[in-house]
Amino acid sequence: MKTVAWVVVSVACVLAGVHCLLAAGSEWESQREGMVAVQIAGRDVTDPSVLRAMRRVPRHLFVPEVARAEAYGDFPLPIGQGQTISQPYIVAYMTQLLRLKPGAKTLEVGTGSGYQAAVLAEVTRTNVYSIEIVEPLAKTAAERLKQLGYGQVVVKCGDGYLGWPQHAPFDAIIVTAGAEHVPPPLIEQLKRGGRMVIPVGGAWAVQSLVIVEKLADGTVKRQDDIPVRFVPLTGKGRDR
Ligand code: SAM
Repeated sequence: MKTVAWVVVSVACVLAGVHCLLAAGSEWESQREGMVAVQIAGRDVTDPSVLRAMRRVPRHLFVPEVARAEAYGDFPLPIGQGQTISQPYIVAYMTQLLRLKPGAKTLEVGTGSGYQAAVLAEVTRTNVYSIEIVEPLAKTAAERLKQLGYGQVVVKCGDGYLGWPQHAPFDAIIVTAGAEHVPPPLIEQLKRGGRMVIPVGGAWAVQSLVIVEKLADGTVKRQDDIPVRFVPLTGKGRDR
């Protein structure tokens, strides 16, 4: 009799636990839906593949546990090592500017938490190459991405100013730290017909989000978009 009671209690506990987990899961999902509706589609992001990606990637698992409750807020958050995960809208907006197609080979400079890389992987459904200069961030992001099923994101620790020549040329390049100028190696590694999005301006100042296009004849066109504020691109870009 005692055994039957114990089994009943155990099954009830397991079911209650599963119920709590599902409830918590759907709570994050509804926060994510709200974020997309208000902050992203509610502004000017219309690309269905970007909206889908922003609905799918569990942003709360890319921020430190203490900041989880604020993960879907309309602002950047600290991720440790003096770095930040960008505001959701900026992630979506920059991704849209890249005009990605499924299969596009993409390079990200500034892995940070790995969140932007996961969004890129959702949109392109292929390998994403991402470089992070701060070793503990690179290591944590690589582990997190693998754990969350984004094994197609290849992360390396290094100076993204130099790009990743072994995997070049890229259809798209996104730089998620503010550079003093557009790094020439990144222009070199952009495919003809490819696009790069990069914040350019002084460290800790308001920067300009610059769109760089490499045309079919190899000429490079540069266009300033909106003002933004990113943490600085360090490494070679700042030492000269
Ligand atoms: N994309 C990130 C995300 O989704 O969490 C946020 C990026 S955070 C705004 C900028 C990142 O760029 C920081 O993690 C910083 O360490 C990194 N960074 C700065 N200079 C770099 C460089 N030269 N090469 C690679 N990463 C760099």
